[in-house]
Amino acid sequence: MLNQIRIVLVNTSDQRNIGSAARAMKTMGLTELVLVAPLEEPQGKAQALAAGATDVLANAIRVDTLAEALADCSLVLATSARNRTLDWPQLTPREAGEKAIQEGVQGAKIAIVFGREASGLTNEELQQSNFHIHIPANPDYSSLNLAMAVQTVSYELRMAYLAAQEQAPVAADEYPLHKELESFYEHFEQVLTKSGFIVRQHPGLVMTKLRRLFTRTRLEQNELNILRGVLASLEKHLPNSKA
Ligand code: SAH
Repeated sequence: MLNQIRIVLVNTSDQRNIGSAARAMKTMGLTELVLVAPLEEPQGKAQALAAGATDVLANAIRVDTLAEALADCSLVLATSARNRTLDWPQLTPREAGEKAIQEGVQGAKIAIVFGREASGLTNEELQQSNFHIHIPANPDYSSLNLAMAVQTVSYELRMAYLAAQEQAPVAADEYPLHKELESFYEHFEQVLTKSGFIVRQHPGLVMTKLRRLFTRTRLEQNELNILRGVLASLEKHLPNSKA
């Protein structure tokens, strides 16, 4: 889902920032870079700062207007070094990460827009977005280097992505039904009894303890199938298997 997210740099004046931004992106798993009319074409200096991310740089798409960069996106987030610009809907970088991942999972194309080193984004450009993101930096000096702002936002995207991966719900059919577990315990008890491990007259707490063990591990369907297979193969070698 990270490849649903596009980083857009508007009128960047220093190609080194483009290279550093590419590196910042790749370290966080992002690959799509769009350059809106860069003032300096990314060449040797940009490549040097991109280091191992020259592929992101080489694949960067160059367009003439911001509108072109955003045309196929349904969620646009614009970053600003100034807080509460235009009183627009605002997200923290963390909230922006979560929102982008949520919508990315559903297939939306998302753009995150970064402004010029000296003057940021114009009001008109800021108004082309659904939300503004402000990195809550030192209020007395809140302007990060462009590539570092890209790094900070990309990190939040990655954190939200990793959290979403962890929460990926286990498919309902991965766990066996209650009745399948019950029939496994019954089968297990039969085999243990036939083998002589459980003495019919003095069964003790063996089955309770085994149930507790399997309950704790929360058997998945394929694991249960293996155990049923193991029991069936052992059963073939047991004496008086009709007992
Ligand atoms: N003097 C400019 C600063 C631009 S910094 C201004 O006042 O807008 C270059 C770009 O880095 C910004 O356009 C923005 O995309 C990003 N950036 C820098 N600091 C940021 C912050 N605190 N929050 C969000 N984006 C920031």
